Amino acid sequence: MFYFSNVKGRKVLKSDLLNDVEHFFTTRELCLFAKEEDMSDNRNLVESYLGQKMATNQPVHGTHIATVENDKFFYNKTDGLLISKGQAALMNFGDCVPIIFYANNKGVIAHAGWRGTVQSMAKVVVEKLINEYEVNTQDIKAVIGPAICSRCYEVGQDVFAQLYKTVVNHFEGFYQKGNKYFVGLKEINKQQLLECGVEQIDVCPYCTACGEKLFYSYRFEKTGYRHSAVLKL
Ligand SMILES: [Zn+2]
Repeated sequence: MFYFSNVKGRKVLKSDLLNDVEHFFTTRELCLFAKEEDMSDNRNLVESYLGQKMATNQPVHGTHIATVENDKFFYNKTDGLLISKGQAALMNFGDCVPIIFYANNKGVIAHAGWRGTVQSMAKVVVEKLINEYEVNTQDIKAVIGPAICSRCYEVGQDVFAQLYKTVVNHFEGFYQKGNKYFVGLKEINKQQLLECGVEQIDVCPYCTACGEKLFYSYRFEKTGYRHSAVLKL
């Protein structure tokens, strides 16, 4: 279940599935990244709150997951950041799906837009945790953060078909209205996780495009501002 909390008086969103880990999704009250504006004051605010400098990335809609090193804070061409105890990570989003994973003192923030979802980014993270860190699937907690909802996200038939192939069950996340195609990336990522055995999943009810304007929508606002997922172990 998601709930609102605050970081130094600014509204953030958290999941009770990760109550034993410091994590949050920022709202417009605490923007940490903008294309044409310096947000370092807000990042400094968060880093002083965490007591820890955050590693971040340049996303490319791929499935590369970087293992964060203690003295390196920027990762090029990376859509997943894997951290250990004593490290923190930050990733920025503007409609794409943020997923925070936690198991056995390892944490991952992953970026899954439609391209990442087509490449089954969620499964790539789960396989990495299992194969490289001997994590048991049933210990993995996955929190799917705020992202564009299926009512707001019309895609072409080709994208619909590519996403359709990534899961066996299609009862959630795929909708057709006449000759228009809509997908719910949060639901499809949840289904990918279920199909690789992950059971502890929390899905954020908030859309980045409709409803209260809590987050940023790249698709509908063409904005350079981003909201963020933050994790510290
Ligand atoms: Zn929506």
